Amino acid sequence: MQSQDLKELFIDELRDLYNAENQLIKALPKMAKASISEELSSGFEAHLEQTKGHAQRLEQIFQTLGEKASGKKCKAMEGLIAEGAEVMGEDFDGEVMDAALIGSARRVEHYEIAAYSTVIKFGEMLGQDEAVKLLEQTLEEETETDEKLVAIMNDFKLEDSAAGDESDEENDSRTNSPVPMKKARTARA
Ligand code: FE
Ligand code: FE
Repeated sequence: MQSQDLKELFIDELRDLYNAENQLIKALPKMAKASISEELSSGFEAHLEQTKGHAQRLEQIFQTLGEKASGKKCKAMEGLIAEGAEVMGEDFDGEVMDAALIGSARRVEHYEIAAYSTVIKFGEMLGQDEAVKLLEQTLEEETETDEKLVAIMNDFKLEDSAAGDESDEENDSRTNSPVPMKKARTARA
């Protein structure tokens, strides 16, 4: 592998991430607004501030590399955000809306986690230590955000409106599992 080629790929992927972060800066306020619980709403607002920092770190990296801070349309993020917008258009009730928003947000975080892990690896190979340090800070915030989303999801409880329906799952407290929403379950039955 030629280092010049890898460096081009590195910069290309940073541009993709820069565009992805900027798309998120526009999307997160809408997700905060659509959230039912204060906890989720303020979580999105907090991540919006972090996301602005992610974009700034990328600008800092471009500057160090002597590259213009410009993005390259991230189609994946565009798709993830479009799906999130679809979710917001549904008339889910209360916590089900929050559960759906968390599903969208986790998809975004996992995309970012995969992308940052990858550019960190490239940066390490290229000896771009300063860039790697900045990218690692962002990766940590993305990971923490995903964990917070899981924690909110783990607090969800089904109301006992259809007794008997869940009788054999009384003690079901699996962590990190999809929310066992009745709606989804009956739809699949
Ligand atoms: Fe980010
Ligand atoms: Fe993020």
